[in-house]
Amino acid sequence: MTEPNKKKRTTRSIRIGKLTIGGDAPIAVQSMTATRTQDLQATARQIEILEKAGADVIRIAIDSKEDVEALKKLRQNTDAVLSVDLQENYLMAPLVAPLVDKIRYNPGHLWHLEKSKPIREKVKFIVDAAREHNCAIRIGVNCGSVDPDYKSRFPGDSIQSMVESAVDHCAMLDEMGFENYCVSLKDSDSDKVIEANKRFAERRPDVPLHLGVTEAGLPPEGIIKTRIAFEQLVAAGIGDTIRVSLTLPDDDKGEEIVVGRQILKDIEEGRFRSVPENFLEGLNIIACPSCSRVENGKFVELAQDVRKITEYAEQYKITIAVMGCRVNGPGETDDADLGLWCGPTYVNLKKGEESIGAYPYDEILEKLKFELDKIIEDRFGSVPSRVS
Ligand code: SF4
Repeated sequence: MTEPNKKKRTTRSIRIGKLTIGGDAPIAVQSMTATRTQDLQATARQIEILEKAGADVIRIAIDSKEDVEALKKLRQNTDAVLSVDLQENYLMAPLVAPLVDKIRYNPGHLWHLEKSKPIREKVKFIVDAAREHNCAIRIGVNCGSVDPDYKSRFPGDSIQSMVESAVDHCAMLDEMGFENYCVSLKDSDSDKVIEANKRFAERRPDVPLHLGVTEAGLPPEGIIKTRIAFEQLVAAGIGDTIRVSLTLPDDDKGEEIVVGRQILKDIEEGRFRSVPENFLEGLNIIACPSCSRVENGKFVELAQDVRKITEYAEQYKITIAVMGCRVNGPGETDDADLGLWCGPTYVNLKKGEESIGAYPYDEILEKLKFELDKIIEDRFGSVPSRVS
């Protein structure tokens, strides 16, 4: 329980609606809705749950014009500071900007639409919309979806490809005279999150950072992974807003905020937790927190079942990733030994980057166990007795 030296933050302040982040402002705690945006009742309820838990910013994913229509109705019924996630559809920016306080775009998703158009033009399109409606922007770089150009320029160094992509996008926004932005560099590995954010903060100490360990997974492991990263970074003066990403049932989503606030309070009061012995030396289950893109409501249950049926293998250093949708699922399972990503009626199973097949929800666990046993046999010799 050593307390790292606490350092002062050096970032500039930016405005996200009525909220200020960066500079001396308190570190804001945020989360994201995990319901289908067009399911107005469920999404409004989740916004309410997050607001009651004390969320400073609530993010909603928007993929289509129908989602924008839903967002208009949701906006009418809440005063919460709202952010949208554009993911692959940057063309939605001018439609959502009048409705929200912040727009998040992922530099690694911009190439999907209008492939021949220069990235800079697409960024300008988003910046123009944000500027006109007084929105902040988050440049949100993610380990599983780094711009292929940066991946090929920094082979074998996923951290540097993330950092360089973020730094270049900051330069573009600077050149466009747009300063109201922050950056995030997320990975599912706490150590990589620490390293990526430290490297970025050295290059751009002025730019506010949004911290998160993506796909941290189910509690309690997901909380520990997040805590490892936040303790190191916040104590080093890095981080202006945080998001704890946990795989939770919809009604429990407020826990992300409660956990985030507790971690910040502990850091502030000098309570640094030691990492449990042997943590992540065996089986590591990564799972996304789910969002409006989740393809089947059974996702959270599936992630819980994966953990249960793989308990027999917990001593083996193997990573299993469970993702909720086709947007980020295929890319963000590439680095895992076994990856599952959900479709509406089938779950896709991968071994590293290789696809094994798609299986109905009631057959996937058996297939996963079969593949897990094969890996254990190949790498470690024999399969232990297991829970059937
Ligand atoms: S993997 Fe898909 S469902 Fe899960 S959080 Fe990411 S975008 Fe949402």
